[in-house]
Amino acid sequence: MAARRKLIAGNWKMNGLKADGLALASDLAGRLAGAGAVPFDLLVCPPFPLLFPVGDAVKGSDVALGAQDCHAKQKGAHTGDVSPVMLKDAGCAYVILGHSERRADHGESDAVVNAKAVAAHKEGLIAIVCVGETEAQRDAGTQTDVVGSQLAGSLPEGTTAANTVIAYEPVWAIGTGKTATPDDVAAMHAFIRAELAKRFPDADTMRVLYGGSVKPSNAAELMAVDNVDGALVGGASLVADDFWAIATSCR
Ligand code: PEP
Repeated sequence: MAARRKLIAGNWKMNGLKADGLALASDLAGRLAGAGAVPFDLLVCPPFPLLFPVGDAVKGSDVALGAQDCHAKQKGAHTGDVSPVMLKDAGCAYVILGHSERRADHGESDAVVNAKAVAAHKEGLIAIVCVGETEAQRDAGTQTDVVGSQLAGSLPEGTTAANTVIAYEPVWAIGTGKTATPDDVAAMHAFIRAELAKRFPDADTMRVLYGGSVKPSNAAELMAVDNVDGALVGGASLVADDFWAIATSCR
């Protein structure tokens, strides 16, 4: 089996002001510096206004910086949007794309996510492409059809293990306290790996994260599941102790 280093990514969503972001980021950078060799990469994805200050706070540390979305164009008349060039300028290495909250709140289709991924790749950003079924889709037994079609539509040609991370996030598990069982996660991650292998020669080394109410009490069990290469963490990423406990549960 290919060795894949785990990625623990914090999606701060629309939370925190400058002082909170700085305190959280500096705390994590300090913990990581003091921890020696660890078996995971650590990433924080603050809201846009915090990218520059948080970027400064983690500069020189091993905490990576990411954004929560980008536009598919490099610049121009797109009021309220932020381009991948700007994210690069702010020090981002990663950008989350197609999060279910963006798909729901902003009507982002697979085609939109695909175009954003192309733009992100062009700037050298690593796209974290999110997929996942709703509760109704799981109840109807269509979860693999849904996720398969999201992967097919959202991932552009040119996707590689170096420029893309997949995040499987069942929508019904996000922010609800409900988590998928390890067996369900194993089944979906195996399916995702097999789908990736149909299109991408380096699928074996592509990281596939799980997201959905990951917390210190369930992280070790989830991170030990086959084909789970880390976590995309929402709520628990806002508390340094919890986010760090999740990261250090990786073996
Ligand atoms: C997320 O928003 O990506 C997420 C997984 O949120 P939470 O951990 O709060 O469920």
